Parts: sequence; structure tokens; C-alpha cells
Amino acid sequence: MGITNHAKNFAAPSTDVDGKRNLIGLSYEELTEALTTLGLEKFRAKQIWSWIYFHGATDFDKMTTLAKPARDKLKAHFTVTRPTISQDQKSDDGTRKWLLKMLDGQEVECVHIPESDRGALCVSSQVGCTLTCRFCHTGTQRLVRNLEASEIVMQVMLARDALGEWPSTRDNRLLSNIVMMGMGEPLYNYENVAKALRIIMHGEGIAISKRKITLSTSGVVPLIKRCGDELDVGLAVSLHAVTDELRDQIVPINRKYPIKELLQACRDYPGASNSRRITFEYVMLKGINDSPADAKQLVRLLRGIPAKINLIPFNPWPGAPFECSSGNTIKKFGDIVNAEGYSSPIRTPRGRDIMAACGQLKSASIRVSATERAAIDKIIAEKELAQGLTSQVV
Ligand code: SAH
Ligand code: SF4
Repeated sequence: MGITNHAKNFAAPSTDVDGKRNLIGLSYEELTEALTTLGLEKFRAKQIWSWIYFHGATDFDKMTTLAKPARDKLKAHFTVTRPTISQDQKSDDGTRKWLLKMLDGQEVECVHIPESDRGALCVSSQVGCTLTCRFCHTGTQRLVRNLEASEIVMQVMLARDALGEWPSTRDNRLLSNIVMMGMGEPLYNYENVAKALRIIMHGEGIAISKRKITLSTSGVVPLIKRCGDELDVGLAVSLHAVTDELRDQIVPINRKYPIKELLQACRDYPGASNSRRITFEYVMLKGINDSPADAKQLVRLLRGIPAKINLIPFNPWPGAPFECSSGNTIKKFGDIVNAEGYSSPIRTPRGRDIMAACGQLKSASIRVSATERAAIDKIIAEKELAQGLTSQVV
């Protein structure tokens, strides 16, 4: 299935409520058009944009720079409704995970990872994921649909609501960075992700700059350049294996876009430089991809690419077919990569106790246990078929 067909087949429903159009998720131009159609002056768009995205207003009555008749008109035709939070969990390490119920009842997770002087929000791009990486809990979720731009922006708005971070301030934000590393493959929902990121970056609203946004992809090669040209955000690539043979198995999109093509797309990534390096994510799987020979091959593959390597200890989930490499093995791997001049931080797992760490997100109610591996394999086979990937089970 091509990427365009994919977008159609996994389309999100509208986030409009009771026949009223939701203003969240409209581009600045669309907002201006919607307001002028209603007979409001063009300059109102600037005010309303600021109320929605700078002040975080949750209803029109709070928009006090607008006269009452204008507010009433807006209320009659539009909403600024957010999804509801159906679960709010806090980890011992301060990581916070929200389960958001969208207007059609579908749920996605969104995670805030605080650090001493900043914090990242891990944002989802799909309900579930179209792909089926073997080490990823999200990949076992049967239910998949793309999120609308509004549903992506709303994750950031809800997090700001919960963290009490309105109006948008410039310094010391708890939510300073965005990582498109939640549920889903962002480049399989490119149009909505791009629209959402443009709204999030807009200087008169949420105002998180492109330097503070990272998009992680499992390797949708045809869209990598476009992402760089149009959005110019930081790129992270989920590499995880140094041979096609292994990557075909654990990151099945590799069968469509093998390592060589993926790395060429990285070499060509617009804006990549020594001061803006591409992050290569590498999940450490015991006995699978964690040998010194793998580390040496990794360095050979990345030669000539401005790169940093992020070693991610595998985060377990019920029924997962892998174990995490030992601390010692991860350290040795990192030392080899480091000795070749690459920075290779080991990502500290955050929020494991609330299943909020990388790859642990999964919102559907389908429970997974060791005895249900067969069921998981069936789901994976079905999804791969829908993706046009040959169905091979590890
Ligand atoms: N779909 C995108 C972004 C979401 S996943 C992608 O694959 O890049 C974010 C990161 O978590 C990816 O690097 C992914 O490979 C990694 N990941 C998935 N499952 C994991 C697990 N169980 N333990 C550690 N990292 C995992
Ligand atoms: Fe999807 Fe990323 Fe998980 Fe792979 S690792 S299944 S692409 S969310």
C-alpha cells in the first residue's frame, strides 16, 4: 500500500462537535478564512489564535478582548474542545503519562519526561501503529488510525493545561521540547503531523521552536527529505540493526526501504550538520544486536553522516520476545562507538513503572501475556499484509 493510500485508509474522523467546527488544528490561514466567512474582521484571527495557543483559553467567554456579540457568534459556530483525560499516571521518577480519549472514543497516550531545567513531551501520531517492530508494544495494537492535526496539537495543549504552563512563556518551561516518539509512525501520517508541528512552532502561540522538536522515524525513506525541507526539525532514525537480514526481521519496514537507502536519505537530510546531528536510535536486545562486532559495523555504516547514537535499553512489556542487554554489554558497545568519535549516550529508561518508557505504550484494551504470543503474531501478520510487506514471523 502506498503512503497516499495509507493516509486514506487510516484517516481520522473529524474533531468537530455537534456540528460546530473545532478551531484547534486549523492552520492560521484556515482560521482566518473560517472567521471571515462568519463576517468577523480578518484581524480577529490574530487575537483568537493568541487566545487559543498563547493563553490556552478553553472557551470563548475567556477571550475578553472580543466584544460579547463576537464571542456569541463564535460560540454558535465553533468550539475549542479538547479530548478528555481518561487516565493520569505519575511515575516514581516524575514521568507523567496521560491516556487521552479522543472524540470518537479512541485512545492515545502522551508522556511528559521532566528534567531539572526543562522537559520533553513525547507525542503520539497514530492510534496504535501501522508498523510492527518486534520489540515495540505499540506494534502489537490491532486498532490503528491516523490522528488528525488537531488531535496531535491537543496533546500539547492538554499537557500545558495539566502542567499549568499557560500563557506560553519563553523561559524555564516544564514542557520545552517535543519528541514525536509516542505511538505511531509519524511519517505514515505526514500531512497531519506537518500541519500540527507548524501550529506548535508558530511564534505567536505555543511557540516551541524547530530546534526543540525531534521527529523519530522507523525509516519511511520517501518522506525524510520532505520532512527536512518543509519542517526542518531534528531527525531521529530507529536503526536498531546493522544488517538487512536482522533489520528485515525486527523493523519490518526495512523490507521496503533497506539500510542503504535509509542511510542515503540521512546523508541527504536537509540541514544535517555537525551542529545538528541526526540521532540514530539503537535498542539494546540481549544476544540479538549487541555484540562488539555489531558496534564496529554500526560505526562503519554511519561514516560520513553527522550522527550521534542513542543506545536505548530495551523496555520490557508483557509477552515481549526479547530481553534487555546487560549493563556491562551496553557499556562495552557504547565504548566502541565512543572510541570512534561518536557521542553515544545511554538513554535512561523513564517511567517504566507506569509503562511509559519507549516502546511500552499501547492503549487498546487487548491484553498481552506470554501465552498470547500466537495472537500477537496473527495481528502482526495481518498488519504486514495490509502494509504490503511479506509476512514473515521471527
Ligand atoms: N515510530 C517511530 C517513533 C515512535 S517509537 C519510530 O519507530 O521511530 C520511539 C523509539 O522507541 C523508537 O526508536 C523505537 O524503536 C523505540 N522502541 C520501541 N519499542 C521499544 C522498547 N520496547 N524498548 C526500547 N525502545 C523501544
Ligand atoms: Fe511503530 Fe515505532 Fe513501534 Fe515500530 S517502533 S511499531 S514504527 S511505534
